[in-house]
Amino acid sequence: MTLDTLSVVVPCYNEEDTLPLFYAEICRVAQRMDDLAFEFVFVDDGSADRTLALLRDYRKADGRVRYLSFSRNFGKEAALLAGLRAARGRFVAVMDADLQDPPDLLVAMRDGLVKEGYDCVAARRVSRAGEPKLRALSARLFYRLMGRIARVDMVDGARDFRLMTRRVADAILSMPETNRFSKGIFGWVGFKTKWLPYEHVPRAGGDTKWSFFKLFQYSLSGIAAFSQLPLALASILGVLLFFASLLILVFLIIRRLAFGDPVSGWASTVCIIIFIGSMQFLCLGIMGQYLSRMYLEVKRRPPYFIRETEEDGAGADGSDAGEDTCQNG
Ligand code: UDP
Ligand code: MG
Repeated sequence: MTLDTLSVVVPCYNEEDTLPLFYAEICRVAQRMDDLAFEFVFVDDGSADRTLALLRDYRKADGRVRYLSFSRNFGKEAALLAGLRAARGRFVAVMDADLQDPPDLLVAMRDGLVKEGYDCVAARRVSRAGEPKLRALSARLFYRLMGRIARVDMVDGARDFRLMTRRVADAILSMPETNRFSKGIFGWVGFKTKWLPYEHVPRAGGDTKWSFFKLFQYSLSGIAAFSQLPLALASILGVLLFFASLLILVFLIIRRLAFGDPVSGWASTVCIIIFIGSMQFLCLGIMGQYLSRMYLEVKRRPPYFIRETEEDGAGADGSDAGEDTCQNG
């Protein structure tokens, strides 16, 4: 009997500190789940440290390890996409390399798919303890806003850590956009998803690659990718301002008839002009956000370039297919 394969997709960017720990852990979990064959798809997102060298070493000793290495840093979204495209398993997991996504959860995730009949099981962080206050607060605001204005199922604390069936993985891969916002895409494709709550785990080593500004930009692209409401905002504001100006007009006529026309009130006029001007800029800015995304989409640029895969790096000695030996384990 051949076992079903579970592919684990792991984006790695400068993870030389955490990768050995992660590899040891995932090997241990793979041993626990001996009803499945494993395939580890590491995507080196243009790391500048020893990440790629480590991956080559793992590959030499362990035939389950596969890797792709990008020509430069293309970002986590591109790495996820490349990994998903490369994954061949009947089940596909995506998880971070820093052990913030506890590999042991895979066992419960597998049960969710196999025994409970879900299509996808995703991890959800229940606490944001240990995260900077501002960051935790803005993340919470973002998820609340997204829940209101975009009709995709996005859960606060949702991580990009999930196990899905081949069907779901194929659905995600068939989404054609190049500006990818995975959290939205996962929700948008639907399917029956089970949420597994777990406590926040600090990084096993190294530093987070996300600055506050990077996260802010990421959330803007998330909104622009999954909500058309900001575009409608311009028209809504226009209509409101139109009615407001009608009211003011009526008021002015009555005042004129009742009190004559004393020349006063230029201050309020200037205020109104500035107000309307700022609204125009706001709406132009919103248009710009969408326009720039359309510009990027229309260019149809490939989301990444691959410089090396495990097939290139297997080594001249052909010592390629060491079966199931887990060295660092
Ligand atoms: N990552 C990546 N490319 C990037 C930034 C991050 O592949 O440009 C990977 C990183 O190696 C890690 C995962 O994405 O495996 C999550 O990154 P990080 O832990 O820095 O994010 P956080 O957990 O703080 O959200
Ligand atoms: Mg992390």
